Amino acid sequence: MSGLPSCFVCGQPVIGLVGQDTAVDTYLLRGGERDQEAVRAKAYGEVHLRCLVESAWGGFWADRLTANLVEARGFRTVAQDGQVSIYRNDRQRENVVVSPDGWVAWVTDDALALAAPAETGVLLPMRHELNLDLGTNSRLAAHLGAALQRDHAFPLLQLVVELDVYERLTSVTALEDGRLEAPTGPGAPRYSHPDHPGHFTTIASYRREFPTTIYKLLTEAGER
Ligand SMILES: [Zn+2]
Repeated sequence: MSGLPSCFVCGQPVIGLVGQDTAVDTYLLRGGERDQEAVRAKAYGEVHLRCLVESAWGGFWADRLTANLVEARGFRTVAQDGQVSIYRNDRQRENVVVSPDGWVAWVTDDALALAAPAETGVLLPMRHELNLDLGTNSRLAAHLGAALQRDHAFPLLQLVVELDVYERLTSVTALEDGRLEAPTGPGAPRYSHPDHPGHFTTIASYRREFPTTIYKLLTEAGER
């Protein structure tokens, strides 16, 4: 067992990768019948995007997120093409794409400016600290620890495979050259923590993918 959060749909670990994973929280709930059902069914928390979309809860959470963005947070609707809606916060220069099936993506104008064309869409570079609690999965912890010491890096897809969540990915392409790196530079944290075996502090470097149609809507949204 890893110490990572479990997906509320499939029960498998959620790594916390942008474009692959998300979280829906109870503060978005409104007190209706379906809301109470979500609480009873524990249909909230960390989730693989793919699982959310394929579950019975995708549409419900898309509704609740949209209501929160527009009514509570003042995002304005900038695009609705029947497939997806885009909500924008002008001050933060940030858009949120919401699909009626529950697929959701947050992206700033700055992040969007780094898009590079790919086969079926565009890829945006991602780089952020990623803390991993591998729990009692000592085999994976040993692999990761050894690779970070030897190569200062570990393939992200290997992590995905060893955690048995490859089938839960939304985009394999986005992770193809992805890696976990040991933090470097002055003041950087150590990647391993002797008092907490199985805990790792890494820098995750990978990409996120947007379909061309959505990318186009997003670039237009930034100009409005
Ligand atoms: Zn899942």
